Amino acid sequence: MGFIKDLGEIYLAANYQRFPVAFVRGEGTRLYDEEGREYLDFCAGIAVCALGHAPKELSQAICEQAQKLLHVSNLYWTEPQARLAELLCENSFAEKVFFCNSGAEAVEAALKLARRYAWKKFGPEKYQIVALENSFHGRTFGALSATGQPAYWQGFEPLVPGFKHIPPNDIKALKEAVSQKTCAIILEPILGEGGVIPLEESFLKKARELASHHKALLIFDEIQTGVGRTGKLFAYEWFGVEPDIMTLAKGLAGGLPIGAMLSREKIMAFLEPGTHASTFGGNPVSCSAAREVLKIILKKDFLKEVQLKGRALEQRLKAIKEEFPELVEEVRGKGLLQALVLKVSATPVLFYLFEQKRILATCIKDRVLRFTPPLIVAYREIDALYEGLKEALKNYQA
Ligand SMILES: *Cc1c(COP(=O)(O)O)cnc(C)c1O
Repeated sequence: MGFIKDLGEIYLAANYQRFPVAFVRGEGTRLYDEEGREYLDFCAGIAVCALGHAPKELSQAICEQAQKLLHVSNLYWTEPQARLAELLCENSFAEKVFFCNSGAEAVEAALKLARRYAWKKFGPEKYQIVALENSFHGRTFGALSATGQPAYWQGFEPLVPGFKHIPPNDIKALKEAVSQKTCAIILEPILGEGGVIPLEESFLKKARELASHHKALLIFDEIQTGVGRTGKLFAYEWFGVEPDIMTLAKGLAGGLPIGAMLSREKIMAFLEPGTHASTFGGNPVSCSAAREVLKIILKKDFLKEVQLKGRALEQRLKAIKEEFPELVEEVRGKGLLQALVLKVSATPVLFYLFEQKRILATCIKDRVLRFTPPLIVAYREIDALYEGLKEALKNYQA
């Protein structure tokens, strides 16, 4: 393992803790390093490569669009952007879409829309935003201020004012936090980076009720849970609770950078010309890719398969819990966003899988192992993860 890592260590910012591997190629659920070694990918670029690596239809759509038009700016209309917005609206609560390039940008757009909407409709006193402890909404200042994890704030304060954080699933705290001053409540239906913590239906329903009652907007950050990850196109569909605004990114374009902020017409109307913008937002290549991703995910039975595979993965993880009760605390998640919560540090397991089994996963919050495979993962690959985990836990050494 050499040249690529050495070069990166000299020239790249050291803000990432990276595994000692450089990938040069991928195919389906597999990645290949410089020496041609194969890895089974239960990370999928952190829930990004929804269709796996180098999927044929997607690569083709990207190539075709790249040969036609890369960029023209939002001073003009382009077909891929308009068509993608149409497809998103036809398949969600939304009526209008704003495109950007990442999750954090989508969250920024959502927060700005909520502030602007409340300011114009009700005046400058209605600015507070209620968010959850342990949430993750991104690294830019607005998104970071919404993020309920003080560790991420360290050294960056003062943050954007007006945010209040309450514990997830705490209805009483939610009731106390929301008032006439609240312009928005922002939630992830399942807290992803915070440790794969599902929100209860009763909590989501209460959030909807309180937002409506206080004329605040309900924002669902579905950057991690959206685009089929939980076995529905959007996680909110499981709960029968609709947001006023939704953010998407990660899996939306299957690996190309994109972000989207969706809302209803009457709300999006408050982003008038000049209020918000993005040079690259709605890029024709990213939008063509996202359209292809959605077309495939929306095919008959695709999401049903995701649900079945999600259940298979969950059952395998639960079997691990039964077999290692002294090491495993809990299995959490929905669909193909699953976590094995340990009673001990997850790092040795993560590295055992990486080094001995060449299986990629992610570790969050020290004790949580997270699995977000491509949505096209095969049952035998879920079995391979199970065998790998069994071996890793049998050999667990702190
Ligand atoms: C990853 C993530 C973000 C941030 O997305 P970036 O593209 O890294 O800016 C925001 N919200 C949630 C729920 C995420 O999982």
